Amino acid sequence: MPQRRMTAQEICYQRMQKAQQQAAQLAAAVKAASASTNPKQGLTGEKRRVAHRPNASLPSSKPVKAHTSVGILSKTTSTTMQKRVAHTPTMKRPVIPAEFGAKVPTNVRQRYLNIFIDECLKFCSSEQEAFQMALEEEKVVCDRSSSKNIYLNVAVNTLKKLRKSPAVSVNAKCQSHEGVLGGRLAAKTSYTINRSGKQQDVDLKGAILYKKLQKYAMTEEQLQEHGYPRPHPEVSGHAVVHNLPEKKNNDPFSKICCRCGAEYKINAYGSCVRKEECSHHWGRLRRNRVPGGWETLYNCCSGAVGSPGCEVSKQHVQDGRKESLDGFVKTFSKPLPVEGNGGVYALDCEMCYTKQGLELTRVTVINSDLKVIYDTFVKPGSKVVDYNTRFSGVTQDDLENTTITLRDVQAVLLSMFSAESILIGHSLESDLFALKLIHCLVVDTAIVFPHRLGLPYKRALRNLMADYLKRIIQDNVGGHDSSEDARACMELMIWKIKEDAKVKR
Ligand SMILES: [Zn+2]
Ligand SMILES: [Zn+2]
Repeated sequence: MPQRRMTAQEICYQRMQKAQQQAAQLAAAVKAASASTNPKQGLTGEKRRVAHRPNASLPSSKPVKAHTSVGILSKTTSTTMQKRVAHTPTMKRPVIPAEFGAKVPTNVRQRYLNIFIDECLKFCSSEQEAFQMALEEEKVVCDRSSSKNIYLNVAVNTLKKLRKSPAVSVNAKCQSHEGVLGGRLAAKTSYTINRSGKQQDVDLKGAILYKKLQKYAMTEEQLQEHGYPRPHPEVSGHAVVHNLPEKKNNDPFSKICCRCGAEYKINAYGSCVRKEECSHHWGRLRRNRVPGGWETLYNCCSGAVGSPGCEVSKQHVQDGRKESLDGFVKTFSKPLPVEGNGGVYALDCEMCYTKQGLELTRVTVINSDLKVIYDTFVKPGSKVVDYNTRFSGVTQDDLENTTITLRDVQAVLLSMFSAESILIGHSLESDLFALKLIHCLVVDTAIVFPHRLGLPYKRALRNLMADYLKRIIQDNVGGHDSSEDARACMELMIWKIKEDAKVKR
């Protein structure tokens, strides 16, 4: 991990230098924006619709988003190609029999069975043996799981185990089957299964990608509905948020912990008045089908709603990002180049808890070639109270020598993006709040791939990747990697465009 970050930063360094030169000119504009007025002014005239979401069940809440099984697994595939044995399938693959009302849907089980078979084929001496082994492994996973979500987590563990099988390394030099079949994209993206015969042949790039992506961009109404930061009509450097839940307490020294829901007091310096541990569930609430109905459990520990937390942190914390809506910058309009490509980028941010709430600690930007073009740690403006490493992967050491501030990052991003650039992300509003960046041309994979239950539910990025690109992401013990998430969003959209093009034909 640390090595990879170094590399990414080295790669970025030259670009950064150039970007920062350009940014110097913009710094003045940034400063002007930051010098804006009373933070309380922002929301008064705005119509607020009550859309209260219970704290723990809020799937869109960024720090919890899409990290359902971090802490269990180690990284297996993200950028490296999975080498595999070329083999000619001869036998018919086993099929999971359909079962009505099953706790884990048959198609999900079948998918993982297929993935397991693919892995077993790498080291088993015969197809028969691979099928048998995969069937047994899948059965164990299913027997151990009381819900789909637990199944997915256990299945990923099993997959990791199979990949670590010592026999695999023997075959490591063999050519990738999918790499050959799928061409460049498949080779780059490490498929485990893609045997449908539908290969991704066209490389979507440049102006074509830019044009096709516009169809998926959010409308102004959607940006407001999903709580994106919007420009304040009068005060420059200020953002407004629509759809905020009604604020219940007006006492500035009383806060509600965004992890455990407890009320706690802070002093004028933002420090907790009493030393009080925060006992909470770090996972999300999941509705699981059980015989005769549904039950709702935390996916971190399968604890019930209201059960004592499975993790204890030093103190309570708050989000706070929507309480300080000043210091925002807005991307500038720049003339489009002749070919009409305003730029396509995916981004992901990491945050930690400070006295002020959630603050930016790392930002990663990916271009449409899936290359990291900007990746930096960021020093939070206030004192850190919790590094949030489980979700962010960012540690105290990472920030030790960082001098880059949010202002620096804003300056770089304003020179890198224009108002015409398309920014892709998963629940990107969360990142834009951390960056204090207002942007209008947004493609949000949480909206493009909606949850079947509708809002406020959102699908986790890792599940989207598993479902559509047959890839396991965010399986790193040390918290996840923001470049992996950003890359995943870009790949999902490229996949989506191609998939939708097929339907049209
Ligand atoms: Zn828990
Ligand atoms: Zn708490």
